[in-house]
Amino acid sequence: MAEVQTFENVACGFCGLGCDDLTLEVEGRAVRAKAGPSGAICPEAARLFRRLDTAEPVARVAGEVTSQADVYREAHRILAGATAPVIAGFGTDMAGAGALVDLAIRFGGVLDHHASQGLFRNYAAVQRTGWLSTTLAEVRNHCDLLVVVGDDPTANWSRLFEKFYPATPLFATGERRVVFLGGSPSEKARRQLEGITISELAGDPVEVLEALALLVSGRTPPVAASGSLPLAELAALAEALRASKYAVVTWNAGALDDGDLVAERATALVDALNVTTRAGVFPLGGVDNIVGVNQLLLWRLGYPLRTLVRGQGSAHDGTLYSTQAALRDADVLVWVSAFRPEPPPDFSGKVIALAHPDTIFQTEPDVVIPVGTPGVDHAGTVFRMDSIVSLPLGALRVATLPSVAEAVRRLAEG
Ligand code: SF4
Repeated sequence: MAEVQTFENVACGFCGLGCDDLTLEVEGRAVRAKAGPSGAICPEAARLFRRLDTAEPVARVAGEVTSQADVYREAHRILAGATAPVIAGFGTDMAGAGALVDLAIRFGGVLDHHASQGLFRNYAAVQRTGWLSTTLAEVRNHCDLLVVVGDDPTANWSRLFEKFYPATPLFATGERRVVFLGGSPSEKARRQLEGITISELAGDPVEVLEALALLVSGRTPPVAASGSLPLAELAALAEALRASKYAVVTWNAGALDDGDLVAERATALVDALNVTTRAGVFPLGGVDNIVGVNQLLLWRLGYPLRTLVRGQGSAHDGTLYSTQAALRDADVLVWVSAFRPEPPPDFSGKVIALAHPDTIFQTEPDVVIPVGTPGVDHAGTVFRMDSIVSLPLGALRVATLPSVAEAVRRLAEG
C-alpha cells in the first residue's frame, strides 16, 4: 500500500474565495480532502480535489487513441485552418491564460470565459457610474452591516460567511449584522453566522435598493405610494445603514436575471452612504480564475474578456464576443477547462478540448487533450475574487498530464 501523505494549509483555486487552510491526504495518486479547522469539509473543494488512484485518460483524435505527436499535429492543423476560432471555457491558471493569449495572437480568435456573464452584468454598472468596491480583508475586519442580495451565496461559495466573519475581527468588535434581501440563509449559512444578527427583507431587490438609496439620502421613494414595499422596514434598515461604521452590499450578478440593475442600484446605495459614513460593494464571482484571466487580458491586450484578436489588432464587444454569440459565426472552438469537468457547449464546428480528465462529452470532440489541474497536478497562480490577492497553488502529486500552458505550447508548435 502507498504511504499516506498529509498536506496542510493547502490553497484552493476553485471558487475564487481563496481559502488557504485545507487539509488533504494523498495516497499514491489518490487525493481526498479532510475536515478543516471548522470541522466541516467544503463540498466543492472535496469534489474537485478528489482523485482516484487510477490511470488518467489519454489524448485522442475523433475518439481514437493515437500518439501524442499525432494529437498535437491534428489540433494544430484544425486551428491553422480556422477562419473564425473561439477560445472559450478558459478555466486555467495564469500561465495557461498567458499561453492562450499567445495562441490567439498567432491564430486569431475570440477570447471568453465560461463564467463571464456575471462579470459583464457588473461591468454594465461600473462602466456607467464607477463603484466603491471593498476587499475580503475589509469585510472581515470592518464590516458591521452586510446586505446580501439574492439567494444564499453559500450554494456557490460554501465557506463565504466563515471567511467574512472571523472569531476575532480587528476592528468590527461591536454587533455585526447581516440582512438577506430577496433570499433566505440556508442552515449552512446560519451555522457560519452564529453570533451574528440575521434578518430577512422580502421584495424585489432592485426596487428595495433604489428605495434604500433615496431613504439614506433623506428622500422619500416614489414607490412608497404604491404600497408594494414595506416602507417601515425599509426606513429602519436605511437608518441602520446610516448608523453603521462600515456597510457592505454583496450580490452574485451571474445568478440574478437583472444582475446589471442590482449592481447599479447597490452602487448608488453605497455612494449615498459614503456621504456620511464608509461603505463598499463586494461583487461575488471568481470561479475558475476568471478574475485572473480577465486581468491578464487587460494587461496584455488592453481589453477584458469577450475580445476578438485578429491580425495585429484586437476589438472588444461584451455582447458580440460572448461565447454563445461568437459560436454562431465560428468554425473552430478551443475549449479549456482544467479546474472542473465542464463540457463544451453544443457546437457544430470543430472542437479541440483541453479538458479535465473526468469530463463527460455529449459529443466526442475532434481532439481531446486531457490536462492536469492547477493545485493538484502542477503548481500555478490564480486570483482571488476581489482581484487584489494572487494565490500560489502547489502540486500534490507527480503530474502525468500536461498543464494547459504546456498543452497549448505543443499545440502551437504542431
Ligand atoms: S469555499 Fe471555495 S476556495 Fe474555499 S475551500 Fe471551498 S471551493 Fe475552495
